[in-house]
Amino acid sequence: MSSAALFLAACGCFYDPAAGPAGLPGDIPATQPAMVAIGDLPIADGFDFPTGPPDAVGYYDAQPFGGEHRHLGSDWNGLGGGDSDLGDPVFSAADGVVTAAGDHAGGWGGVVRVVHRLAGADDAPEQVVETLYAHLDTFDVGTNERVTRGQRLGTMGNVGGRYPAHLHFELRARAGEPLGKGYGDPGLLWLDPTAFITAHRPTGSAPDTAGFTSLAPGLDLGRFPSPVPSFVGDSVITVVRVDPAAWSVEVLAASREHPGDALTAPEWAERHALTAVINAGMFGTDHSTATFALTDEGEVNNPALSPKAGSVLLAEPPSPKGPSARLLDLRCDDLDALRPQYGSLVQSYRLLDCAAHPTWGENGKVWSHALLGADGDGRLLLIHARSPWSTRQFTEILLDLPLDLRRLHYAEGGPEASLYLHHGDTVVAAVGSWETGFFERDDNRAAWPLPNVIGVRER
Ligand SMILES: [Zn+2]
Repeated sequence: MSSAALFLAACGCFYDPAAGPAGLPGDIPATQPAMVAIGDLPIADGFDFPTGPPDAVGYYDAQPFGGEHRHLGSDWNGLGGGDSDLGDPVFSAADGVVTAAGDHAGGWGGVVRVVHRLAGADDAPEQVVETLYAHLDTFDVGTNERVTRGQRLGTMGNVGGRYPAHLHFELRARAGEPLGKGYGDPGLLWLDPTAFITAHRPTGSAPDTAGFTSLAPGLDLGRFPSPVPSFVGDSVITVVRVDPAAWSVEVLAASREHPGDALTAPEWAERHALTAVINAGMFGTDHSTATFALTDEGEVNNPALSPKAGSVLLAEPPSPKGPSARLLDLRCDDLDALRPQYGSLVQSYRLLDCAAHPTWGENGKVWSHALLGADGDGRLLLIHARSPWSTRQFTEILLDLPLDLRRLHYAEGGPEASLYLHHGDTVVAAVGSWETGFFERDDNRAAWPLPNVIGVRER
């Protein structure tokens, strides 16, 4: 046994000892990467994290740079732990040129190396750095290929079961040095990747609040790892934030649009040219009639405003002035005054009171959620989590996220809970699964047909 392996066996980092030697790449012959002339390198506009870009949402660094074992990189892992991230995509941290993409012996597995050029400034010379992505299973790029920030390089692997799947990620102050051993004295070659990325974030594309990325004016996508994990799944909460001044929010009922023809969320989006779709609410055994009041542009699906349900979404104003939708609380907003200004209405349970405190008690039942929310600026939030929590706990989790949540409206729970978004290259096709007493499994992959949905399109 080499001294490196002995050192490794003593490593107290996150690895499961039963899974074998931890993420030490081992002592292997250097493989010379391709040379690239500095003039052939694009100027990088900044750096993002290599998993869950731009902000590593859904991932954590199980073994940061340095530390007692002198780790020469970061070990990026999915929040699900173990091999839950096996096959997840790995992304280029910045614009650059690929100088190596291939399999290596020992503990390295598949390695991609990318060289980046940073523009100089008055007080800083031009700089070239290299990022190195190890333990990859598959490659999406080849040597000498030019790549852009956020471009897929390959997928995360576990080097034939040698480690729990993760990305060993290094950032080096010079390009083309030997692979090395993954641990040791960083000298002047190895930089702390997280510190470097944090100091070199792209300008102009930074999320406007933590966790959100702008897709278009008035349309943002957020993916939040829950601070309280569920017992199953990725524990990630997806939020599509819509400014109703810039986007049209619509109620679509199959009973009006195409009777008898309930569609899945992606089918609704395609047939009606919608950018985003979420459940409008629960429905009856006829697979058409909404559980609470619902009107689609004057056509009444369910006329009865129930005293049991305190939240109403108003949408589709005949006049183009004002917001395209409002989420009202029947106890603290004036429905009678605003209702004449809107053609469509959906009622459901309110999950927050007028002071934004949870209304639901803990009932011990857990399910996937699709909810509508509104923030302090009147923006509508389409909220989805596949991982199950009780509705009470999920409400409290949402209040801990940077959403500025003021109103919260129950749309659906369990396998029917759907959220679909398609804008440019961004696609979210989220479906629910778990529901206590009905579907106590995490294996639903299908989008279920929905008779009534909320749709979003450009105004
Ligand atoms: Zn590592």
